[in-house]
This record gives sequence, C-alpha cells and structure tokens, in this order.
Amino acid sequence: MLVDTHSHLYEESFLPDWDEVLVRCKQANVKKVLLPNVDSSTLQALKNTVEKDPDLFIPMMGLHPCSVKENYLDELAVIKEKLFAEKYIAVGEIGIDLYWDKTFIDQQKTAFITQVGWANELSLPISIHSRESTSVIIEILKNTIICSRKGVFHCFGGTLEEAKEIISMGYCLGIGGVVTFKNSTLPGILKEVGVDQLVLETDSPYLAPTPYRGKRNESSYTNLVALKLADIFQVPLHEIEEKTTANAHSVFKLF
Ligand SMILES: [Zn+2]
Repeated sequence: MLVDTHSHLYEESFLPDWDEVLVRCKQANVKKVLLPNVDSSTLQALKNTVEKDPDLFIPMMGLHPCSVKENYLDELAVIKEKLFAEKYIAVGEIGIDLYWDKTFIDQQKTAFITQVGWANELSLPISIHSRESTSVIIEILKNTIICSRKGVFHCFGGTLEEAKEIISMGYCLGIGGVVTFKNSTLPGILKEVGVDQLVLETDSPYLAPTPYRGKRNESSYTNLVALKLADIFQVPLHEIEEKTTANAHSVFKLF
C-alpha cells in the first residue's frame, strides 16, 4: 500500500470527475491520502472530502504561508479554533514561501512559529511548506522553536547539505513529482541520503509527475513517484512501498 502524505484533492478542479479520481486512487493502491489545509476558505471543502471517505482521507489543519496577508491574525484565530476543537493528524500546511511574495515575510515567520507552538501543545507533527526558504526554516526549527513530534519538509527542494541537516534533525523529506522531472537534481541528492526518511506525496493538483507534467496531478500518481524511487535506489518497487509507508506511519501514526 501507498500513502500520499500531501494532497489537495478537495480542490474544485476534482469535482467534475471525482468518482474516477477516487477509483484510480484505490486502483493505484493508495490507501491513505493526507489533506493539508490552506486557509479559512478551504475548510468546508476539506471537511466535505473527508466525509466522503474518512478511512482514506485524513485531514491536517493549518494556515498556508501564501495565505499570510494583512488579516493573518484573524485567519490564525479561525485555524486555532478548528485545530483545538477537532481531530487532525498534523498541523499543516505551514511554513514560509519566499518564491511568490516577500511582502509578509515577518508575518509568515510569526504565523509559522505560532503554529509550531500549537503542534507542540497538541503533540502533533507538522507538514512544512519551504519554497525558497529551506535554510530559513531549518534555522527557526533549530534555534527558535523545536517541534517535538517533528514532521515532513513537504516537496523538499533544498540542497544535499540541507537534506542531510533535515534528516539529522529527525524530519522526513516529502518526495513528489519533481523527482521525475528531466534535469531534476533531486535523484542525485536522494541517492546520497537514502530512503530511510523519505515519504511519498503528490501535492495534487500541482506538480504532476512525468508523463503528466503540466497537467492536473492526482493522488493515484503516488505510484509513479514510488516507481521513480525504485529506479533511483535500484530496489524492487515493493521495498519502496513498504519503507515509505512505514516512514509515513512513524511520522503521522496513521493506523
Ligand atoms: Zn500543499
């Protein structure tokens, strides 16, 4: 069985062919799909999706760094209420994004640190968005606030040194479609760090793996990422399945 540790399958683009998406997901042997929240506007869709199949879909709760704007304190208050009132498997997705917009970098840092604090209060792991900010986040998690349950650097996109640092801190690297892209440096990095702290993800509907690059991603494509890892590590596919599923369970306590 496979676990997609990061998927926005509740997004509107899946509604027209939802049943087929779900069938393909099950056919691909993806047995758990972890759904990270984005902000207050995604709460309802997230909830609706979990209700469709509570055994398959496991929700997280958090405020995404790209949704940290002028009103971020109001957003955080909504997220906090949900997080402490209901059951979630992790705090996510949270982090810092320096790719799209640096205007709110200070607020992004504050929101991230605040939410790591909540994860600690609830003893939950975190799902981290670290686009163009891997080193900043490593620094915060080492020197400002330690997350007791650790978590996943989702869609890891850092250097080999950063990958080694993250692993030594006890976190996992979330590996998705990017690893299948031509010219990706990720396969070389993964060969160096090994499979012991890797988990699979899709980040659907974004970053679809080859041969679907540029199209809508979906959780069934987790198996294409697993296939790529089997190729990188030159091991049978079932070994990648077993190892990454065990890793996902050790971070998130899925079963
Ligand atoms: Zn995401």
